Amino acid sequence: MRKVLIRTAVICATAAAAVAVTAFVVRRRRRINGRWARAGAVLKELEEQCATPVEKVKEVADAMTKEMHAGLESEDGSMLKMLISFVDRLPTGDERGLFYALDLGGTNFRVLRVQLGGKEGRVVNQQCEEVSIPQDLMVGGSDELFDFIASALANFVASEDEDFHLPNGKQRELGFTFSFPVKQTSIASGTLIKWTKGFNVNGTVGKDVVGELTRALQRQGIDMQVTALVNDTVGTLAGGIYDDNDVVAAIILGTGTNAAYVERADAIKKWQGPLPNSGEMVINMEWGNFRSSYLPTTDYDHALDAESLNPGQQIYEKLISGMYLGEIVRRVLLRLAVEAALFGDNVPPQLEVPFVLQTPVMSAMHHDTSADLKVVGAKMQDFLGISNSSFKARKLVVQVCDIVAKRGARLAAAGIIGILKKLGCDRPNMKRTVIAMDGGLYEHYTIFRESLLATLKEVLGEEASASVLVIMANDGSGIGASLLAASHSQYLED
Ligand code: ADP
Ligand code: MG
Repeated sequence: MRKVLIRTAVICATAAAAVAVTAFVVRRRRRINGRWARAGAVLKELEEQCATPVEKVKEVADAMTKEMHAGLESEDGSMLKMLISFVDRLPTGDERGLFYALDLGGTNFRVLRVQLGGKEGRVVNQQCEEVSIPQDLMVGGSDELFDFIASALANFVASEDEDFHLPNGKQRELGFTFSFPVKQTSIASGTLIKWTKGFNVNGTVGKDVVGELTRALQRQGIDMQVTALVNDTVGTLAGGIYDDNDVVAAIILGTGTNAAYVERADAIKKWQGPLPNSGEMVINMEWGNFRSSYLPTTDYDHALDAESLNPGQQIYEKLISGMYLGEIVRRVLLRLAVEAALFGDNVPPQLEVPFVLQTPVMSAMHHDTSADLKVVGAKMQDFLGISNSSFKARKLVVQVCDIVAKRGARLAAAGIIGILKKLGCDRPNMKRTVIAMDGGLYEHYTIFRESLLATLKEVLGEEASASVLVIMANDGSGIGASLLAASHSQYLED
Protein backbone atom coordinates (compact mmCIF):
# COMPACT_ATOMS: atom_id res chain seq x y z
CA MET A 1 0.00 0.00 0.00
CA ARG A 2 2.75 2.39 0.96
CA LYS A 3 4.58 1.54 -2.23
CA VAL A 4 1.50 2.35 -4.23
CA LEU A 5 1.19 5.69 -2.49
CA ILE A 6 4.79 6.55 -3.18
CA ARG A 7 4.46 5.51 -6.78
CA THR A 8 1.33 7.62 -7.13
CA ALA A 9 3.13 10.57 -5.55
CA VAL A 10 6.04 10.19 -8.01
CA ILE A 11 3.67 9.94 -10.92
CA CYS A 12 1.83 13.04 -9.71
CA ALA A 13 5.06 14.98 -9.29
CA THR A 14 6.20 13.99 -12.78
CA ALA A 15 2.84 14.96 -14.20
CA ALA A 16 2.99 18.30 -12.42
CA ALA A 17 6.45 18.94 -13.80
CA ALA A 18 5.23 18.01 -17.27
CA VAL A 19 2.30 20.38 -16.94
CA ALA A 20 4.64 23.14 -15.82
CA VAL A 21 7.00 22.53 -18.75
CA THR A 22 4.08 22.49 -21.17
CA ALA A 23 2.77 25.72 -19.68
CA PHE A 24 6.23 27.27 -20.05
CA VAL A 25 6.49 26.15 -23.68
CA VAL A 26 3.00 27.44 -24.40
CA ARG A 27 3.81 30.78 -22.72
CA ARG A 28 7.07 31.07 -24.63
CA ARG A 29 5.40 30.16 -27.89
CA ARG A 30 2.69 32.68 -27.16
CA ARG A 31 5.34 35.27 -26.40
CA ILE A 32 7.14 34.47 -29.63
CA ASN A 33 3.88 34.47 -31.54
CA GLY A 34 3.08 37.74 -29.79
CA ARG A 35 6.41 39.15 -30.96
CA TRP A 36 5.77 38.20 -34.56
CA ALA A 37 2.26 39.54 -34.37
CA ARG A 38 3.66 42.83 -33.03
CA ALA A 39 6.35 42.90 -35.73
CA GLY A 40 3.69 42.25 -38.37
CA ALA A 41 1.60 45.11 -37.02
CA VAL A 42 4.55 47.54 -37.08
CA LEU A 43 5.33 46.53 -40.66
CA LYS A 44 1.72 46.83 -41.75
CA GLU A 45 1.47 50.31 -40.27
CA LEU A 46 4.69 51.32 -42.06
CA GLU A 47 3.38 49.94 -45.33
CA GLU A 48 0.13 51.85 -45.01
CA GLN A 49 1.74 55.13 -44.04
CA CYS A 50 4.33 54.93 -46.83
CA ALA A 51 1.87 53.91 -49.51
CA THR A 52 2.20 55.76 -52.80
CA PRO A 53 -0.63 54.60 -55.06
CA VAL A 54 -0.85 56.29 -58.46
CA GLU A 55 -3.31 58.87 -57.16
CA LYS A 56 -0.89 59.93 -54.44
CA VAL A 57 2.01 60.21 -56.91
CA LYS A 58 -0.17 62.43 -59.09
CA GLU A 59 -1.11 64.64 -56.13
CA VAL A 60 2.56 65.08 -55.20
CA ALA A 61 3.44 65.84 -58.84
CA ASP A 62 0.69 68.46 -59.02
CA ALA A 63 1.86 70.01 -55.76
CA MET A 64 5.41 70.21 -57.19
CA THR A 65 4.14 71.95 -60.35
CA LYS A 66 2.14 74.39 -58.24
CA GLU A 67 5.13 75.26 -56.04
CA MET A 68 7.28 75.76 -59.15
CA HIS A 69 4.81 78.39 -60.36
CA ALA A 70 4.73 80.05 -56.93
CA GLY A 71 8.52 80.12 -56.67
CA LEU A 72 8.82 81.75 -60.10
CA GLU A 73 6.19 84.33 -59.19
CA SER A 74 8.05 86.05 -56.35
CA GLU A 75 11.04 85.76 -54.04
CA ASP A 76 9.93 83.72 -51.05
CA GLY A 77 6.75 82.76 -52.95
CA SER A 78 7.39 79.11 -52.21
CA MET A 79 9.57 76.76 -50.23
CA LEU A 80 11.08 76.07 -53.65
CA LYS A 81 13.65 78.81 -54.15
CA MET A 82 13.60 78.43 -57.95
CA LEU A 83 16.95 80.23 -58.15
CA ILE A 84 17.77 82.12 -61.33
CA SER A 85 21.11 80.71 -62.47
CA PHE A 86 21.91 83.51 -64.98
CA VAL A 87 22.68 80.70 -67.42
CA ASP A 88 20.79 81.93 -70.47
CA ARG A 89 22.98 80.31 -73.11
CA LEU A 90 23.33 76.58 -73.08
CA PRO A 91 26.00 74.68 -74.97
CA THR A 92 25.15 74.14 -78.63
CA GLY A 93 28.03 71.90 -79.67
CA ASP A 94 29.77 74.74 -81.54
CA GLU A 95 32.07 75.52 -78.59
CA ARG A 96 35.74 75.65 -79.51
CA GLY A 97 38.92 76.21 -77.57
CA LEU A 98 40.51 75.33 -74.27
CA PHE A 99 38.40 75.70 -71.12
CA TYR A 100 38.79 74.80 -67.47
CA ALA A 101 36.48 73.72 -64.70
CA LEU A 102 36.85 73.63 -60.95
CA ASP A 103 34.41 71.61 -58.90
CA LEU A 104 34.19 72.35 -55.18
CA GLY A 105 31.43 70.73 -53.18
CA GLY A 106 32.75 68.01 -50.93
CA THR A 107 35.88 66.67 -49.34
CA ASN A 108 37.59 66.54 -52.72
CA PHE A 109 37.79 69.16 -55.37
CA ARG A 110 38.41 68.49 -59.00
CA VAL A 111 40.11 70.44 -61.74
CA LEU A 112 39.44 69.71 -65.37
CA ARG A 113 40.59 70.99 -68.74
CA VAL A 114 38.88 70.28 -72.03
CA GLN A 115 39.84 71.05 -75.58
CA LEU A 116 36.63 71.59 -77.51
CA GLY A 117 36.59 71.16 -81.25
CA GLY A 118 33.17 72.40 -82.35
CA LYS A 119 30.47 70.23 -83.94
CA GLU A 120 32.91 67.86 -85.63
CA GLY A 121 35.65 67.65 -83.03
CA ARG A 122 33.45 67.72 -79.90
CA VAL A 123 35.57 66.98 -76.81
CA VAL A 124 38.97 66.57 -78.45
CA ASN A 125 40.86 66.09 -75.20
CA GLN A 126 40.13 66.22 -71.52
CA GLN A 127 42.13 65.78 -68.36
CA CYS A 128 40.99 65.74 -64.79
CA GLU A 129 42.70 65.78 -61.43
CA GLU A 130 41.19 65.24 -58.01
CA VAL A 131 42.71 66.77 -54.90
CA SER A 132 41.54 66.11 -51.37
CA ILE A 133 41.15 69.11 -49.13
CA PRO A 134 43.03 68.93 -45.82
CA GLN A 135 40.58 68.86 -42.91
CA ASP A 136 42.01 72.01 -41.30
CA LEU A 137 41.42 74.05 -44.46
CA MET A 138 37.71 73.15 -44.41
CA VAL A 139 37.33 75.05 -41.16
CA GLY A 140 40.15 77.60 -41.48
CA GLY A 141 40.44 81.00 -43.11
CA SER A 142 39.15 81.99 -46.52
CA ASP A 143 42.53 82.96 -48.01
CA GLU A 144 44.08 79.67 -46.90
CA LEU A 145 41.36 77.59 -48.59
CA PHE A 146 41.28 79.58 -51.83
CA ASP A 147 45.10 79.78 -52.01
CA PHE A 148 45.24 76.01 -51.68
CA ILE A 149 42.75 75.60 -54.52
CA ALA A 150 44.47 78.19 -56.70
CA SER A 151 47.88 76.63 -56.20
CA ALA A 152 46.49 73.21 -57.20
CA LEU A 153 45.10 74.90 -60.29
CA ALA A 154 48.50 76.53 -60.95
CA ASN A 155 50.19 73.11 -60.85
CA PHE A 156 47.51 71.74 -63.14
CA VAL A 157 48.05 74.53 -65.67
CA ALA A 158 51.83 74.10 -65.44
CA SER A 159 51.51 70.40 -66.34
CA GLU A 160 49.70 71.14 -69.60
CA ASP A 161 51.04 69.41 -72.71
CA GLU A 162 50.67 70.08 -76.45
CA ASP A 163 47.31 68.28 -76.60
CA PHE A 164 45.85 71.44 -75.15
CA HIS A 165 46.19 74.69 -76.95
CA LEU A 166 45.41 78.26 -75.90
CA PRO A 167 45.50 80.80 -78.76
CA ASN A 168 48.03 83.63 -78.37
CA GLY A 169 46.84 86.62 -76.43
CA LYS A 170 43.82 84.87 -74.98
CA GLN A 171 43.15 84.50 -71.29
CA ARG A 172 42.34 81.11 -69.79
CA GLU A 173 38.65 80.78 -68.82
CA LEU A 174 37.14 78.74 -66.01
CA GLY A 175 33.72 77.43 -65.05
CA PHE A 176 33.42 77.20 -61.26
CA THR A 177 31.03 74.59 -59.87
CA PHE A 178 30.40 75.58 -56.30
CA SER A 179 27.86 73.32 -54.61
CA PHE A 180 26.96 75.40 -51.60
CA PRO A 181 24.02 77.79 -51.25
CA VAL A 182 24.84 80.94 -53.19
CA LYS A 183 22.84 84.05 -54.01
CA GLN A 184 23.80 84.46 -57.63
CA THR A 185 24.16 88.07 -58.82
CA SER A 186 25.33 87.44 -62.39
CA ILE A 187 26.63 84.50 -64.41
CA ALA A 188 30.05 85.04 -62.86
CA SER A 189 29.33 86.31 -59.36
CA GLY A 190 27.42 85.24 -56.31
CA THR A 191 27.57 85.63 -52.56
CA LEU A 192 27.85 82.69 -50.22
CA ILE A 193 24.76 82.23 -48.04
CA LYS A 194 26.22 79.55 -45.77
CA TRP A 195 28.67 76.69 -45.72
CA THR A 196 27.33 73.12 -45.46
CA LYS A 197 28.75 69.57 -45.63
CA GLY A 198 31.38 70.02 -42.95
CA PHE A 199 32.84 73.28 -44.28
CA ASN A 200 32.96 76.34 -42.09
CA VAL A 201 35.50 78.74 -43.54
CA ASN A 202 35.96 82.04 -41.73
CA GLY A 203 35.16 85.32 -43.38
CA THR A 204 33.49 84.03 -46.55
CA VAL A 205 29.76 84.15 -45.81
CA GLY A 206 28.26 87.16 -47.61
CA LYS A 207 31.31 87.51 -49.87
CA ASP A 208 31.45 87.01 -53.62
CA VAL A 209 33.00 83.56 -54.00
CA VAL A 210 34.25 84.37 -57.51
CA GLY A 211 36.04 87.41 -56.09
CA GLU A 212 37.67 85.23 -53.43
CA LEU A 213 38.85 82.74 -56.06
CA THR A 214 39.98 85.45 -58.50
CA ARG A 215 42.16 87.14 -55.87
CA ALA A 216 43.71 83.80 -54.96
CA LEU A 217 44.44 83.11 -58.66
CA GLN A 218 46.18 86.50 -58.86
CA ARG A 219 48.20 85.78 -55.74
CA GLN A 220 49.32 82.53 -57.38
CA GLY A 221 50.20 84.39 -60.56
CA ILE A 222 47.70 82.59 -62.84
CA ASP A 223 46.12 84.60 -65.61
CA MET A 224 42.66 83.05 -65.61
CA GLN A 225 39.16 84.44 -65.63
CA VAL A 226 36.12 82.86 -63.99
CA THR A 227 33.38 83.24 -66.61
CA ALA A 228 30.68 81.05 -65.06
CA LEU A 229 29.71 80.26 -61.48
CA VAL A 230 27.31 77.33 -61.36
CA ASN A 231 25.65 74.85 -59.09
CA ASP A 232 26.33 71.14 -59.80
CA THR A 233 22.77 70.52 -61.02
CA VAL A 234 23.09 73.36 -63.51
CA GLY A 235 26.46 71.97 -64.63
CA THR A 236 24.87 68.54 -65.12
CA LEU A 237 22.11 70.12 -67.21
CA ALA A 238 24.67 71.89 -69.44
CA GLY A 239 26.71 68.70 -69.86
CA GLY A 240 23.51 66.77 -70.60
CA ILE A 241 22.35 69.21 -73.28
CA TYR A 242 25.77 69.11 -74.95
CA ASP A 243 25.40 65.32 -75.29
CA ASP A 244 21.73 65.34 -76.20
CA ASN A 245 19.84 68.35 -77.46
CA ASP A 246 16.51 67.12 -76.10
CA VAL A 247 17.60 67.33 -72.44
CA VAL A 248 15.15 69.58 -70.58
CA ALA A 249 16.09 68.95 -66.96
CA ALA A 250 18.82 67.53 -64.75
CA ILE A 251 18.21 65.64 -61.53
CA ILE A 252 20.73 64.70 -58.87
CA LEU A 253 19.96 61.71 -56.67
CA GLY A 254 23.05 61.13 -54.56
CA THR A 255 23.78 61.99 -50.96
CA GLY A 256 21.39 64.89 -51.45
CA THR A 257 18.96 65.69 -54.22
CA ASN A 258 18.24 68.64 -56.49
CA ALA A 259 16.87 69.52 -59.91
CA ALA A 260 17.45 72.17 -62.57
CA TYR A 261 15.57 72.77 -65.80
CA VAL A 262 15.27 75.15 -68.73
CA GLU A 263 12.46 77.70 -68.27
CA ARG A 264 11.00 80.28 -70.62
CA ALA A 265 12.42 83.58 -69.40
CA ASP A 266 9.05 85.34 -69.66
CA ALA A 267 7.51 82.78 -67.31
CA ILE A 268 9.86 83.91 -64.53
CA LYS A 269 7.67 86.64 -63.08
CA LYS A 270 10.14 87.57 -60.36
CA TRP A 271 12.89 88.25 -62.92
CA GLN A 272 13.71 91.97 -62.90
CA GLY A 273 16.42 92.19 -65.53
CA PRO A 274 16.10 92.47 -69.29
CA LEU A 275 14.90 89.30 -70.99
CA PRO A 276 17.83 87.33 -72.40
CA ASN A 277 18.10 87.07 -76.19
CA SER A 278 17.70 83.32 -76.04
CA GLY A 279 14.39 83.73 -74.22
CA GLU A 280 15.50 80.96 -71.87
CA MET A 281 16.92 80.71 -68.40
CA VAL A 282 18.10 77.76 -66.36
CA ILE A 283 16.38 77.51 -62.99
CA ASN A 284 18.03 75.77 -60.05
CA MET A 285 14.97 74.52 -58.19
CA GLU A 286 16.62 73.52 -54.90
CA TRP A 287 13.86 70.92 -54.85
CA GLY A 288 15.20 69.13 -51.77
CA ASN A 289 13.33 71.73 -49.73
CA PHE A 290 9.95 70.78 -51.25
CA ARG A 291 7.23 69.76 -48.82
CA SER A 292 3.53 69.08 -49.14
CA SER A 293 0.71 67.68 -47.06
CA TYR A 294 0.38 65.03 -49.78
CA LEU A 295 3.79 63.58 -48.96
CA PRO A 296 3.30 60.29 -47.13
CA THR A 297 5.27 60.60 -43.89
CA THR A 298 5.59 58.58 -40.71
CA ASP A 299 6.63 59.10 -37.11
CA TYR A 300 10.09 57.84 -38.14
CA ASP A 301 10.38 60.71 -40.62
CA HIS A 302 9.16 63.27 -38.13
CA ALA A 303 11.67 62.12 -35.51
CA LEU A 304 14.49 62.02 -38.07
CA ASP A 305 13.68 65.58 -39.09
CA ALA A 306 13.33 66.86 -35.52
CA GLU A 307 16.73 65.40 -34.58
CA SER A 308 18.48 66.54 -37.78
CA LEU A 309 20.88 69.47 -38.18
CA ASN A 310 18.21 71.33 -40.19
CA PRO A 311 14.80 70.58 -38.66
CA GLY A 312 11.85 71.61 -40.81
CA GLN A 313 14.04 72.00 -43.89
CA GLN A 314 14.78 69.72 -46.87
CA ILE A 315 11.74 67.54 -46.09
CA TYR A 316 11.58 66.02 -49.61
CA GLU A 317 15.32 65.33 -49.51
CA LYS A 318 14.84 63.50 -46.20
CA LEU A 319 12.34 61.14 -47.88
CA ILE A 320 14.19 60.37 -51.09
CA SER A 321 17.96 60.94 -50.91
CA GLY A 322 20.87 58.64 -50.14
CA MET A 323 21.84 60.44 -46.98
CA TYR A 324 18.58 59.45 -45.28
CA LEU A 325 17.09 56.21 -46.67
CA GLY A 326 19.31 53.96 -44.55
CA GLU A 327 18.65 56.07 -41.48
CA ILE A 328 14.88 55.70 -41.90
CA VAL A 329 15.32 51.93 -42.11
CA ARG A 330 17.44 51.99 -38.95
CA ARG A 331 14.68 53.79 -37.07
CA VAL A 332 12.09 51.20 -38.13
CA LEU A 333 14.39 48.32 -37.16
CA LEU A 334 15.02 49.93 -33.78
CA ARG A 335 11.29 50.05 -33.11
CA LEU A 336 10.99 46.41 -34.17
CA ALA A 337 13.81 45.53 -31.79
CA VAL A 338 12.26 47.40 -28.87
CA GLU A 339 8.62 46.49 -29.34
CA ALA A 340 8.84 43.08 -30.97
CA ALA A 341 12.26 41.84 -29.78
CA LEU A 342 13.04 41.16 -33.42
CA PHE A 343 16.72 40.58 -32.68
CA GLY A 344 16.38 38.84 -29.31
CA ASP A 345 15.54 39.95 -25.80
CA ASN A 346 18.06 42.77 -25.78
CA VAL A 347 18.02 45.73 -28.13
CA PRO A 348 21.31 45.67 -30.08
CA PRO A 349 23.13 48.81 -28.84
CA GLN A 350 24.54 49.66 -32.28
CA LEU A 351 21.03 49.94 -33.67
CA GLU A 352 20.60 53.02 -31.47
CA VAL A 353 23.41 54.95 -33.15
CA PRO A 354 22.09 57.49 -35.69
CA PHE A 355 23.27 56.99 -39.28
CA VAL A 356 25.09 53.67 -38.62
CA LEU A 357 23.02 52.07 -41.32
CA GLN A 358 24.05 53.80 -44.53
CA THR A 359 22.13 53.57 -47.77
CA PRO A 360 24.73 51.45 -49.65
CA VAL A 361 24.41 48.82 -46.88
CA MET A 362 20.62 49.01 -47.03
CA SER A 363 20.88 48.59 -50.80
CA ALA A 364 23.15 45.52 -50.46
CA MET A 365 20.65 43.88 -48.07
CA HIS A 366 17.71 44.80 -50.30
CA HIS A 367 19.35 43.16 -53.33
CA ASP A 368 20.21 39.92 -51.51
CA THR A 369 18.92 37.05 -53.64
CA SER A 370 20.50 34.19 -51.68
CA ALA A 371 18.06 31.55 -50.37
CA ASP A 372 19.00 32.12 -46.73
CA LEU A 373 19.51 35.88 -47.07
CA LYS A 374 23.12 35.56 -46.04
CA VAL A 375 24.08 39.05 -47.21
CA VAL A 376 21.41 40.48 -44.90
CA GLY A 377 22.81 38.35 -42.06
CA ALA A 378 26.39 39.43 -42.77
CA LYS A 379 25.56 43.15 -43.05
CA MET A 380 23.57 43.05 -39.82
CA GLN A 381 26.52 41.42 -38.14
CA ASP A 382 29.08 43.85 -39.57
CA PHE A 383 27.19 47.11 -39.26
CA LEU A 384 24.68 46.57 -36.45
CA GLY A 385 26.45 43.98 -34.30
CA ILE A 386 23.49 41.60 -34.68
CA SER A 387 24.64 37.99 -34.88
CA ASN A 388 22.55 34.88 -35.47
CA SER A 389 19.56 36.72 -36.87
CA SER A 390 16.70 34.39 -37.72
CA PHE A 391 15.57 33.92 -41.30
CA LYS A 392 12.20 35.41 -40.42
CA ALA A 393 13.89 38.52 -39.03
CA ARG A 394 16.06 38.87 -42.14
CA LYS A 395 13.01 38.68 -44.35
CA LEU A 396 11.42 41.45 -42.35
CA VAL A 397 14.52 43.62 -42.74
CA VAL A 398 14.32 43.23 -46.52
CA GLN A 399 10.63 44.18 -46.44
CA VAL A 400 11.43 47.36 -44.51
CA CYS A 401 14.13 48.27 -47.06
CA ASP A 402 11.65 47.65 -49.84
CA ILE A 403 8.96 49.91 -48.39
CA VAL A 404 11.37 52.78 -47.66
CA ALA A 405 13.25 52.58 -50.99
CA LYS A 406 10.12 52.34 -53.12
CA ARG A 407 8.43 55.24 -51.37
CA GLY A 408 11.57 57.31 -52.07
CA ALA A 409 11.78 56.24 -55.70
CA ARG A 410 8.10 56.86 -56.38
CA LEU A 411 8.23 60.30 -54.76
CA ALA A 412 11.32 61.17 -56.80
CA ALA A 413 9.37 60.12 -59.90
CA ALA A 414 6.53 62.38 -58.75
CA GLY A 415 8.94 65.32 -58.69
CA ILE A 416 10.11 64.58 -62.22
CA ILE A 417 6.49 64.34 -63.38
CA GLY A 418 5.89 67.72 -61.71
CA ILE A 419 8.64 69.24 -63.88
CA LEU A 420 7.34 67.54 -67.03
CA LYS A 421 3.88 68.95 -66.28
CA LYS A 422 5.32 72.42 -65.83
CA LEU A 423 6.96 72.06 -69.25
CA GLY A 424 3.84 70.56 -70.82
CA CYS A 425 5.74 67.38 -71.64
CA ASP A 426 3.58 64.94 -69.72
CA ARG A 427 1.08 64.23 -72.48
CA PRO A 428 1.02 61.68 -75.29
CA ASN A 429 2.42 62.56 -78.72
CA MET A 430 5.00 64.90 -77.26
CA LYS A 431 8.43 65.40 -78.70
CA ARG A 432 11.32 63.40 -77.33
CA THR A 433 12.03 64.66 -73.80
CA VAL A 434 15.23 63.75 -71.97
CA ILE A 435 16.13 63.97 -68.28
CA ALA A 436 19.86 63.98 -67.41
CA MET A 437 20.41 62.09 -64.18
CA ASP A 438 23.45 61.99 -61.91
CA GLY A 439 24.16 60.64 -58.45
CA GLY A 440 25.26 57.48 -56.72
CA LEU A 441 21.82 56.59 -55.37
CA TYR A 442 20.24 56.37 -58.82
CA GLU A 443 23.32 54.81 -60.36
CA HIS A 444 23.95 52.05 -57.82
CA TYR A 445 20.59 51.31 -56.14
CA THR A 446 19.05 49.17 -58.89
CA ILE A 447 15.67 48.53 -57.22
CA PHE A 448 15.34 52.26 -56.50
CA ARG A 449 16.16 53.13 -60.12
CA GLU A 450 13.83 50.53 -61.58
CA SER A 451 11.01 51.58 -59.29
CA LEU A 452 11.47 55.23 -60.32
CA LEU A 453 11.37 54.36 -64.02
CA ALA A 454 8.37 52.03 -63.58
CA THR A 455 6.52 54.81 -61.74
CA LEU A 456 7.10 57.27 -64.60
CA LYS A 457 5.61 54.73 -66.98
CA GLU A 458 2.71 53.89 -64.69
CA VAL A 459 1.73 57.49 -64.06
CA LEU A 460 2.42 59.05 -67.47
CA GLY A 461 0.93 56.10 -69.31
CA GLU A 462 2.47 53.89 -71.95
CA GLU A 463 2.21 56.45 -74.76
CA ALA A 464 3.43 59.61 -73.03
CA SER A 465 6.23 57.80 -71.22
CA ALA A 466 7.51 56.43 -74.53
CA SER A 467 8.85 59.89 -75.41
CA VAL A 468 10.40 60.48 -71.96
CA LEU A 469 13.96 59.22 -71.50
CA VAL A 470 16.18 59.25 -68.43
CA ILE A 471 19.89 59.17 -69.27
CA MET A 472 22.82 58.81 -66.91
CA ALA A 473 25.01 61.90 -67.05
CA ASN A 474 27.94 60.51 -65.13
CA ASP A 475 29.76 63.40 -63.51
CA GLY A 476 28.49 65.61 -66.28
CA SER A 477 28.78 68.66 -64.06
CA GLY A 478 32.54 69.05 -64.58
CA ILE A 479 32.35 69.07 -68.36
CA GLY A 480 29.15 71.09 -68.01
CA ALA A 481 30.91 73.86 -66.09
CA SER A 482 33.68 74.11 -68.69
CA LEU A 483 31.03 74.23 -71.43
CA LEU A 484 29.29 77.06 -69.61
CA ALA A 485 32.62 78.87 -69.35
CA ALA A 486 32.74 78.49 -73.14
CA SER A 487 29.15 79.53 -73.81
CA HIS A 488 29.59 82.59 -71.55
CA SER A 489 33.12 83.36 -72.76
CA GLN A 490 34.35 86.96 -72.76
CA TYR A 491 35.43 86.42 -76.38
CA LEU A 492 31.95 85.64 -77.71
CA GLU A 493 30.25 88.26 -79.82
CA ASP A 494 26.69 88.80 -78.70
P1 ADP B 1 27.40 63.17 -53.87
O1 ADP B 1 25.91 63.13 -53.96
O2 ADP B 1 27.88 63.15 -52.47
O3 ADP B 1 28.01 64.23 -54.71
P2 ADP B 1 27.39 60.72 -55.39
O4 ADP B 1 26.57 61.28 -56.49
O5 ADP B 1 28.52 59.83 -55.77
O6 ADP B 1 28.00 61.81 -54.46
O7 ADP B 1 26.40 59.90 -54.46
C1 ADP B 1 26.88 59.26 -53.32
C2 ADP B 1 25.68 58.76 -52.57
O8 ADP B 1 25.02 57.76 -53.32
C3 ADP B 1 26.04 58.11 -51.26
O9 ADP B 1 26.02 59.04 -50.20
C4 ADP B 1 24.94 57.08 -51.08
O10 ADP B 1 23.85 57.64 -50.41
C5 ADP B 1 24.51 56.75 -52.48
N1 ADP B 1 25.08 55.47 -52.90
C6 ADP B 1 26.34 55.21 -53.27
N2 ADP B 1 26.52 53.91 -53.55
C7 ADP B 1 25.33 53.32 -53.34
C8 ADP B 1 24.85 51.97 -53.43
N3 ADP B 1 25.62 50.97 -53.80
N4 ADP B 1 23.56 51.76 -53.13
C9 ADP B 1 22.76 52.76 -52.75
N5 ADP B 1 23.15 54.03 -52.62
C10 ADP B 1 24.42 54.31 -52.92
MG1 MG C 1 27.79 64.84 -56.70
